[in-house]
Amino acid sequence: MIKKMREMPVIILKLEALLRRLSLKHQRRKSIEEELAMRYAGFRGEQALDYHIAQIPQKNHFIFQDLRLPLSKDSFFQIDILLLSQQYFIILEAKNIAGTIFIDQNQLLRTLDEKEDSYPNPIQQVENQQYNLDELIENHCKIKLPITSFVAMTNPSSIIKPNPQYSAVAKKVIRPAAIRQRFGAVNYSYQKELIEKIELQKLSRLLIGMHTPSDPDILKQFQIGKGEILTGIYCDQCNNLSMTKRQRVWECTICSYTSKNAHIQALIDYRLLIGSTISCKQCSSFFQISSSISSKLLRSLNLNFFGEGKNRAYKLELEDLQKLIKNK
Ligand SMILES: [Zn+2]
Repeated sequence: MIKKMREMPVIILKLEALLRRLSLKHQRRKSIEEELAMRYAGFRGEQALDYHIAQIPQKNHFIFQDLRLPLSKDSFFQIDILLLSQQYFIILEAKNIAGTIFIDQNQLLRTLDEKEDSYPNPIQQVENQQYNLDELIENHCKIKLPITSFVAMTNPSSIIKPNPQYSAVAKKVIRPAAIRQRFGAVNYSYQKELIEKIELQKLSRLLIGMHTPSDPDILKQFQIGKGEILTGIYCDQCNNLSMTKRQRVWECTICSYTSKNAHIQALIDYRLLIGSTISCKQCSSFFQISSSISSKLLRSLNLNFFGEGKNRAYKLELEDLQKLIKNK
């Protein structure tokens, strides 16, 4: 049974918004594009596992896709897939890396097009997650169950080199197609139910409650000032900030494409890049429209707000704005 579904990571939405609103000549564009490609590869790698996880018996398992759990006040650890049962827990880490892969105690070495790159050792990564999860569960629920972990190499074109000096590679590094069989072997080894179903449900609620999606300050990460973010309403068709307000729709001054909800996408961009609340004045300068139109637009969306008159600020909740776009 799936208890938590994977969602599109906010970092991907932020990187896309940043590319929409940064000059084509901006010197950071290339590094933002590289980061976006890397994040997409990671996300697709995790998604590739979901199909194989769906093949294992669902009845006695609680499955969580992408959990980010607190380690201490400001630090977190992230798990791609967690499977809970009354007998054991399994952690699965996805790695979407192309090329020839060799893992030793210190690192993962990837050779591609005669170039060698080094990545952190994924076996150690997943064993650290295992340790942190064990601590967290024991601290909160006084439950101790055997935890097993695997690293799934999701890129079908990659070649994994064996390492006889490091036995964990053969034990822990698997292909997605082996998930059913490997999980079956764990199931066979740990048949004794160690906790009650009701405790498992309690633990499941606790983990979902603790999940904290990452929401990084992308402008700080790339050292970009708010003043460098381009304003205006974006046209999806010709990729310019060229939409202008007509009576009932937004119309592109370049390609004549019309849209009813281009302003909601602009509010999403504002939320992703600038801030989580917006005043009428901030909206009119970001949209490049008059303050009377921006006031009317903001009121029409039924967003939560605080303050009155000029001091009124509307709350920009990502989920609410995404729903508004879907419903239009
Ligand atoms: Zn256009």
